[in-house]
Amino acid sequence: MMTVRTLLLIDNDASHVDVFTDALLNATDGPFQSECVKTLAEGIRRLRRREFWAIFLNLSLPDSQGMETFDKLALAVPGVPTLIIAGPKDVVVALEVLRHGAKDYLLEDHLDRDSFVRAIRNMAERKTADELLFREKERAQVTLDSIGDAVLSTDLEGKVTYLNVVAEKITGWTREEAAGKDIEEVFVIVDASTREPCVNPLRAAIKKNRTVQLTPNCILIRRDGTEFAIEDSAAPIHDQRGLATGAVIVFHDVSAARAMGVEMSHMAQHDTLTNLPNRTLLQDRLTQAIATASRNDSRIAVLFLDLDGFKHINDSLSHATGDRLLQLVAKRLLAAVRTSDTVCRLGGDEFVILLSEVAHAGDAGVKAGKILSALSAPFEMEQNTLRITGSIGISTYPEDGQSAELLIRNADLAMYQAKEKGRSNCQFFEKGMNVRAVERQSIEGDLRFALERNEFVMHYQPKIDLTTGEITGVEALIRWQHPGRGLVGPLQFISIAEDCGLVLPIGRWVLRESCKQAKAWQDAGLPAIEMAVNVSSVEFRNDEFLESVGTILKETGLEPRYLELELTESVLMQHAEFSVPVLQKLKAMGVRLAIDDFGTGYSSLSYLRQFPIDTLKLDQSFIHEINADTDEATIISAVINMGCHLKHRVIAEGVETAEQLAFLRAHGCDEGQGYYFGRPMPALETSKLLDLGTAPTVIDQGFQEPGFLQSVSRQIVN
Ligand code: C2E
Ligand code: MG
Ligand code: MG
Repeated sequence: MMTVRTLLLIDNDASHVDVFTDALLNATDGPFQSECVKTLAEGIRRLRRREFWAIFLNLSLPDSQGMETFDKLALAVPGVPTLIIAGPKDVVVALEVLRHGAKDYLLEDHLDRDSFVRAIRNMAERKTADELLFREKERAQVTLDSIGDAVLSTDLEGKVTYLNVVAEKITGWTREEAAGKDIEEVFVIVDASTREPCVNPLRAAIKKNRTVQLTPNCILIRRDGTEFAIEDSAAPIHDQRGLATGAVIVFHDVSAARAMGVEMSHMAQHDTLTNLPNRTLLQDRLTQAIATASRNDSRIAVLFLDLDGFKHINDSLSHATGDRLLQLVAKRLLAAVRTSDTVCRLGGDEFVILLSEVAHAGDAGVKAGKILSALSAPFEMEQNTLRITGSIGISTYPEDGQSAELLIRNADLAMYQAKEKGRSNCQFFEKGMNVRAVERQSIEGDLRFALERNEFVMHYQPKIDLTTGEITGVEALIRWQHPGRGLVGPLQFISIAEDCGLVLPIGRWVLRESCKQAKAWQDAGLPAIEMAVNVSSVEFRNDEFLESVGTILKETGLEPRYLELELTESVLMQHAEFSVPVLQKLKAMGVRLAIDDFGTGYSSLSYLRQFPIDTLKLDQSFIHEINADTDEATIISAVINMGCHLKHRVIAEGVETAEQLAFLRAHGCDEGQGYYFGRPMPALETSKLLDLGTAPTVIDQGFQEPGFLQSVSRQIVN
């Protein structure tokens, strides 16, 4: 059903009313109905009371004349489409009224039914078009306000014509405030890294008459100064004829995404545990530093730090403790270097410190020393106090390598050498280390098959009672009968075996072989002697060590009192609190215990007293110094005294000369071991030596003639 459209005629002329009503009857766009009033005041009253489709207004009314008539009406009841009826004197005014918003005008002179009908039709058509346009605009508006992107448009001059809600939010300008402002005032963008103003993409879009992308990495500064990372594009707007009339930019806030990107790239370049740069970032920085150093003809140093015995802390305490310790170490390292230096964690307990400015290579050594001493202070943890040391290898540019990889690798190689010198040491890279590293690898490869191919042999070296001359026991020393290299000594492969874990099966083999041999000698009726077996730190700290000692003793049938385990001083002292209970358990099994290479580490006397030790083996370096008329003599006699005091047996290692022997005897040293009495020898030779017995008379002669026992045994063997 068509709705009835009501028209209002405000006109004092009765003839107009007649023509008007007649026209309505003939109008095709109806149905229409009308109300007619004679004054403006009455018209306004009617308009306020109900809704009219349109107004026909005569400018000359009893209560108002001319322009004023329209203005008053438009002010009182705005928005109703109005058509003007103008008298001859009002023609000029009528044109003016159109500018004030009237839809059309009719001249009184030509006023007839048809002109009314035409006017009504035009009015109806315009209204429909207006409504369509309004709906279209409304839909565009709703759409623009409901999308997540900000939309902003300008005219050809770059004056802002429109912002949607999101654009208002991001720019801080309302549509009304921004309207007519220069785009540069409302949409302020700068480059994120340089802070230079960016070319406004709107201007570019207008100029190039095509879509342009926003400058990458661009930041929008809101009216209140807040910054947003934004992204998107601008495009020109064309009219029906294809001419540009302005431009529109669509953009969105990518702050969160960009922050995420920054976070991700940080994560990719840093170690999550310590937040230090990781290997990737180190490579970058080092490559940069090399470039700078090569330009400036300057020097840089790479310090490769590995913590000593960290794995043990991790395994015996907890990984959480290990992690915490690494964090504290990272802090200390940072505190120990300059801000221009880079501290990185490569993973595990490996750190690299890049010193970007070193005048002399020696400075790097000084720095390494400082770092080691910074590490040496105890770490206070929640539950315990931990002490840790590190080993540092140093490489320098340009001497030790031209690339980041090479410098790191060479510092790493040097670090291994530092480790071999003992804990808390540093070592500069030397050319020969490369060769050694290759060598090491080849040994490691062969070592994997040595056990199954039965390539290991045990040699035994006698220990002599310095008062009676008796052989009190032998020390079992491993040798590797390598198919290509010949007989290889333990110093060349034990530390490699320790690094790759092979020392565990090898150590078990040594223990079994030695116990079996000792038992075999006893069974053959030879004097029962003590069998001393060396235990590496890796074995000692292994959970299954105690058990395997017990099993092997049972298997071989050797009484525990004939087995002496030799542990180096550094192994015991490094984690003294861990050592005590293990030693006690071994002791409880009836096994004898010796501290090997005594005097080379830093024994704490208080621990020494706690260790249930039977024997101190005085390191051969002291014995070799005896001739050299140094303080060593005093030290040796002090150690011998201390050993006696602690009720330990003291054995001097590496006795090579009659002089040394005389000195040791004079100072009351219990036993001796060394080439002077006999070199380590195969089992058969040893058994003949044991068979020979050890009468004091033999000793008397033997002590005058170096290598006596050796020569006797050789005679027997031959
Ligand atoms: P160590 O336990 O201190 O053994 C003594 C080393 O000094 C032996 O070297 C021995 O041959 C050597 N030596 C003995 N008398 C003299 C002497 O008068 N002068 C000199 N200059 N040296 C003498 P070797 O056999 O090369 O063993 C070296 C180290 O390797 C041993 O030191 C020990 O720590 C380790 N080792 C040997 N065998 C084993 C083993 O079966 N297992 C483990 N874990 N380590 C072993
Ligand atoms: Mg030993
Ligand atoms: Mg030793």
